[in-house]
Amino acid sequence: MTEQPMVVVSQLHKSFGPLEVLKGIDLSVARGEVVCVIGPSGSGKSTLLRCVNLLEEPSAGTVVVNGVELTDEDCDLDGARIKIGMVFQSFNLFSHLSVLDNLTVAQRKVLKRGKAEAERIAHENLERVGLSEKATSMPAQLSGGQQQRVAIARALSMNPELMLFDEPTSALDPELVGDVLGVMRQLADEGMTMLVVTHEMQFAREVADRVLFMDDGHVVEEGPAEQVIGNPRQERTQTFLARVL
Ligand code: ADP
Ligand code: MG
Repeated sequence: MTEQPMVVVSQLHKSFGPLEVLKGIDLSVARGEVVCVIGPSGSGKSTLLRCVNLLEEPSAGTVVVNGVELTDEDCDLDGARIKIGMVFQSFNLFSHLSVLDNLTVAQRKVLKRGKAEAERIAHENLERVGLSEKATSMPAQLSGGQQQRVAIARALSMNPELMLFDEPTSALDPELVGDVLGVMRQLADEGMTMLVVTHEMQFAREVADRVLFMDDGHVVEEGPAEQVIGNPRQERTQTFLARVL
């Protein structure tokens, strides 16, 4: 029996009023697979990611994550979303809470973990992202790269089965990008299933099992990173890469 994929998106369409942003996306992500999504600004990458956890409601099509159809109107969305971690370009930490409290609040409220257990798991995940010594800091005392690593540790503290990253390094000063990519690379090595929108072509090349190039609401090209980035077949992919590489 072949193992059920972690994500199956079928014929996904999304419009905002008259604007059709996703025009029939098919996407499958296997368990343990790392898929990077690249493409020009405005092509629908963020909308696709937000449809995968139903932060945006698709106009048509189906989204199945971990065997659960999120687009089914009877779906327990809150329950299904617990298994999906998301990291945004803007770090979205709770600015009035310490790093430790940022990592424990959802564990306690959503997973009903006790204080001691939630804090133990928080410390484990801070160690994972190299920030053990920052537990008592406030977000504003951290660099952007450290804040983003806290955001990753916070997501990991919920034991997600799937991690969605939307340009996690785009808001960072160049010298801080490497640490965040390093944490993501380590997660990939540990076998986390990841769907990553990124402009970091080197990262995509080295870490992604598969790369999708999106343009104008379509997946124009997909395949191994070496092929899509190293030797693209479609003219639109070639034009995009010529601009960003
Ligand atoms: P990307 O992440 O590839 O830059 P987006 O998915 O953010 O692209 O946006 C694709 C298109 O959808 C853009 O034209 C954007 O303006 C539009 N869009 C995104 N979100 C909304 C929204 N909530 N309401 C209206 N238009 C939106
Ligand atoms: Mg975007």
